[in-house]
Amino acid sequence: MKRKLAFTLLLAVGITFSHAQLVSPDRENVRGGEMTIQPITHATLVLSYNKKNIYVDPTGGATAFTGLAAPDIILVTDIHGDHFDPKTIEAINTSKAVLVVPQAVADKLPATMEKTKVIILNNGDKTMQQSIGITAVPMYNLPEAADAFHTKGRGNGYVLSIGGKNVYISGDTEDIPEMRSLKDIDFAFVCMNLPYTMDVSQAASGVLAFKPKVVYPYHYRGQDVNTFKTVVNSGDASIDVRLRNWYPAAQKS
Ligand code: ZN
Repeated sequence: MKRKLAFTLLLAVGITFSHAQLVSPDRENVRGGEMTIQPITHATLVLSYNKKNIYVDPTGGATAFTGLAAPDIILVTDIHGDHFDPKTIEAINTSKAVLVVPQAVADKLPATMEKTKVIILNNGDKTMQQSIGITAVPMYNLPEAADAFHTKGRGNGYVLSIGGKNVYISGDTEDIPEMRSLKDIDFAFVCMNLPYTMDVSQAASGVLAFKPKVVYPYHYRGQDVNTFKTVVNSGDASIDVRLRNWYPAAQKS
């Protein structure tokens, strides 16, 4: 009996340790099953549906995904290191994964990834992968300029169709007209950090324009997401603003 208890404790400690960096996922009932939303860090997240796993902008090395199933789809939004990290993609098990990227990212894929299945989408392009619809949408800075952090057409935001729900992943962007005019978004992941993307009030303004049912501030390092939530909900109390910890590693040290 004692030994069993000790083993159970050991197991519990082991599990806690191996999952130390993962915050609790959110689970949503969608058509045909459950969608799991797992924040990882900054711009990185994992969506799961019907045993299919979508890794978005995987960074942080293989350990960031400890305890999660290998990806079936990997989405990359842009060329910067907080979105496109070849070392992490090489470190995780990509044997069954299709990599969905803009041309600018495809141009930077290392030779070691030449056997990885790659689908190139540019703004406006669509593909269907394993019953998940993927549409590439623009992401860029305002005003448009050749020397902007994000020039129009280089990177992709994505709108995914998962179990009848539309999921918007903003990538690095400001509240561009293409964001403000989005329709029927059920779940939105919206960036906010300066100087690369936009501040909290601009992000809130963009969100109030397209009114997703649920919005997760992500890619928000250094910004006050509580103010974001207050501003969004004072404009529309029905929007579910979900504050999650996207920087769990930072708080440990
Ligand atoms: Zn970024």
